[in-house]
Amino acid sequence: MNANSRADVHRVAVTVLGSADAFASGGRAQAGYLVQGGGKNFMLEAGPGLLGALKKAGVSPAALDYVIISHLHGDHFAGLPFLLLEYMYESPLRKTVVIAGPPKLERRTWTLMRTMFPRVDVATAQRRIKFMVLKPGQRARLGKAARLSAIRSPHTSPDISLSLRLETAGRTIVFSGDTGWNEELIRFSDGADLMICECTYYESNHKQSHINYLKLRDNRARFRVGRMLLTHLGSEVLRHRSDIDMEMAFDGMKVEL
Ligand SMILES: [Zn+2]
Ligand SMILES: [Zn+2]
Repeated sequence: MNANSRADVHRVAVTVLGSADAFASGGRAQAGYLVQGGGKNFMLEAGPGLLGALKKAGVSPAALDYVIISHLHGDHFAGLPFLLLEYMYESPLRKTVVIAGPPKLERRTWTLMRTMFPRVDVATAQRRIKFMVLKPGQRARLGKAARLSAIRSPHTSPDISLSLRLETAGRTIVFSGDTGWNEELIRFSDGADLMICECTYYESNHKQSHINYLKLRDNRARFRVGRMLLTHLGSEVLRHRSDIDMEMAFDGMKVEL
């Protein structure tokens, strides 16, 4: 296969903008994955450093079509007020941006926005933003370009955290979000071209709300996915880098599917 024909079959590009846990371990940015396919730009997660990471990657914030949030922890959605501020002052939107995520995402986002920028009139941002609630078990259409489904991940309670399955341009990407070990993820990810899976720890299992590397390694063969990328990498797993024989994400990494 020559380079040109290879480019033709790559219909979806995934760029890792942030591969760290909540502590920006290893100096990495907090959660962010840009998926480009079907003529649309999907942003999975909006960590606090989202704007900087997008601009560093040469992607205009106004080019985003969908922002999809897995859960309501700051390392996954606290970048939204900066994005909204950008839309109000620097990059006015000419189209609607849909922000999809678990119940309470809209309320929490505006609360956060008003806390961070108290005197800013958010009405202009609200006009071009549409929130969409994603519930576990739901299968939603994102226009004509994509389908999105979700299951609940064992990570937060009572707030709902989600694992996500995005299908676009004939490719399927599954993103675990933050999650404790979840047998359901094996069925949910079945047949995916790419699985982006959290791996916060190497061996610690004191936190039932995250996965460690040893558990993933022991179960890797049960996942019928084309490629698995480990992410949400904490300091412990980074210290064990040389003991890891699975693919680890890094900021700026590009995957073509
Ligand atoms: Zn997190
Ligand atoms: Zn979390």
